[in-house]
Order: sequence, then structure tokens, then C-alpha cells
Amino acid sequence: MRRESRYCAFCGHRHRIYTKAHVGILDVILALALGFLVLSPFANGLDARGIGLAAIFVGVAELFTVIRHRMSLRCGRCGFDPIIYRRSQEDAAKLVRTHLARRAADPRTLLAQPIAPYGRRRERHSHEQRSPEV
Ligand SMILES: [Zn+2]
Repeated sequence: MRRESRYCAFCGHRHRIYTKAHVGILDVILALALGFLVLSPFANGLDARGIGLAAIFVGVAELFTVIRHRMSLRCGRCGFDPIIYRRSQEDAAKLVRTHLARRAADPRTLLAQPIAPYGRRRERHSHEQRSPEV
């Protein structure tokens, strides 16, 4: 289970993503072994139907791996989705807007830090020295 830290491109929030997007060759081998193992008590020894069972296992594993990877890419804090952004910037902005509206209405986030696009935060300007007016 490989996970890596990434920063959200919109709000700069650090979140962990699953780097594995598809099943690998090792998963296929393991599924084959499991397929034969599950069938061996019913058939005498190795049975070719184990390959069919393994194919089903691989299919299910691939489905879960893809969904897990895809879900982890989305930022949980602001709702920004880089895949949707690459396809359509308007759609990504709409999703973030809906997420932020829902978040604003949620009483649990009343005292939470406000979400602003990365680079447009207040902290950035707070330490800027203001020259005294003469
Ligand atoms: Zn974010």
C-alpha cells in the first residue's frame, strides 16, 4: 500500500494519496495462486478453472485499486480534483464552490481555518512591513 504526501494545487493542504493506480504483475500472480488454491479442494489438484477465478479476483482488485487511487486524488479540505481540472477548469471550480458552500453551512467547520486559494492567504501579507506614513 504505497501512499505519498501531496499538496493540493488549490488550497495548499497536504494530504496523502495512493500512488498505485492499477494492479501490478505481482497482484496477478497472487490472484492466480489464490484461484488455484481455492479450487484445488473441489477439483483434483490444479484445475484450469482456477485461471477464470483468478481473472475475477484481478478484475475486482483492479476496480478497488482504481477507485481508491481516484478518490484519494481529490482534496478533502477544499474539494479540488486535479483530474477534473485537467478536463475542464469550470467543472473543477464548480465542484470546489459546491464543496465550500456545503462546508460553510456545516456548523462543525464554524471555527475552522477559512479556505483560500494557495498564495492568496492572509498569513502571507501579515508579516509584510508597512512603511510608516510621513
Ligand atoms: Zn485543497
